[in-house]
Amino acid sequence: MRRIVLTFVILFISALGLQSFENPVWSDEFVVVLDAGHGGKDSGKYYNGLKESDIALAITLKIGAHLEKQPKVKVIYTRDTDVFVNLYERGAIANRADADLFVSIHCNAHTSQAHGAETFVLGLHANKQNLEVAKKENEVIFLEEDYEENYAGYDPNSPESFIGLTLMQEEYLDQSIMLASLVQNNLVNQLGRKDRSVKQAGFIVLHQSYMPSVLIETGFITNKQEGAYLNSNKGKTEMAKSISEAIMSYKKSILLATQDSQDPEITEKEIETAIATTEENIYDGVTFKVQLAASSKELELQPYNFKGLRELSRSKEGNLYKYYYGETSDYNKILLMKAFAQEKGYASCYIVAFKDGKKQKLSTIIKSN
Ligand SMILES: [Zn+2]
Repeated sequence: MRRIVLTFVILFISALGLQSFENPVWSDEFVVVLDAGHGGKDSGKYYNGLKESDIALAITLKIGAHLEKQPKVKVIYTRDTDVFVNLYERGAIANRADADLFVSIHCNAHTSQAHGAETFVLGLHANKQNLEVAKKENEVIFLEEDYEENYAGYDPNSPESFIGLTLMQEEYLDQSIMLASLVQNNLVNQLGRKDRSVKQAGFIVLHQSYMPSVLIETGFITNKQEGAYLNSNKGKTEMAKSISEAIMSYKKSILLATQDSQDPEITEKEIETAIATTEENIYDGVTFKVQLAASSKELELQPYNFKGLRELSRSKEGNLYKYYYGETSDYNKILLMKAFAQEKGYASCYIVAFKDGKKQKLSTIIKSN
């Protein structure tokens, strides 16, 4: 727990530059919007008597029951009965509540015996499998009467139609990914679910909210064992416990960060400790670096040229030298290093990823994992 908390403290501090003090993070109550997928005339996936909308609702209510027992946590449901709520309204509920988190609960389905849990954050769904998952979840808009007005410009078959739409969630991407990682870790390590990992895709329901947001595909109702597990009281109870614990880990870190914010200075030693104790998140064959600066000048790779940072490297692209900090295939480590570089004054530094020596879009790497 401690190591995850430390990670969050640092991530949070790194985000301070972007956050205003009106941010709900600073208010006394931690507001979680729980979104049970589908409902009413939209049953979601249906297989062999198993109904996604029912399973999602049952798990969601159990998550809420856990969270409501915690001090200073407020739970808001987008639905707590079997009713239809359109996707547009779900995000609006979270925005009106000025919520700290939006968590959407779903079940997957496939023609194969695929199984496992996966957690999504909003992004471009260039990956075909992710696009398929998002398309199925988005289809519900066609049951909405005024969908053409509410989702102008959305083409379910085009990944590109999300390019403009993803911008709103970009600001929360780090936090969303970390929450998603906590959820995924718990489902895999506590419950032994197969790890289908944290992914990005264009879910309309995630695009509507202005706060860290994740969508959890708890498992496949089309898989014989997993479907039975999800439909059982044991399965729903265990799922709910794991997910609510992940949410509480996230909350704790935010709280700590608030208390520490009078003195947000991070030392190199703290970063090193955090890196040493944070769980690894390795992307095979990928090298992450923090890009600090680009310049036409060739600078010596010495700490005094880079505000005291070590582990420096340089590449030449055209007429420009690019300067990097850190080199690792561990995504969690590079997130921490980015936070440290920002702390040192590289406010607009960012993470770059290389595969086979070539620079790749970070979102592509996360999606294709
Ligand atoms: Zn669904």
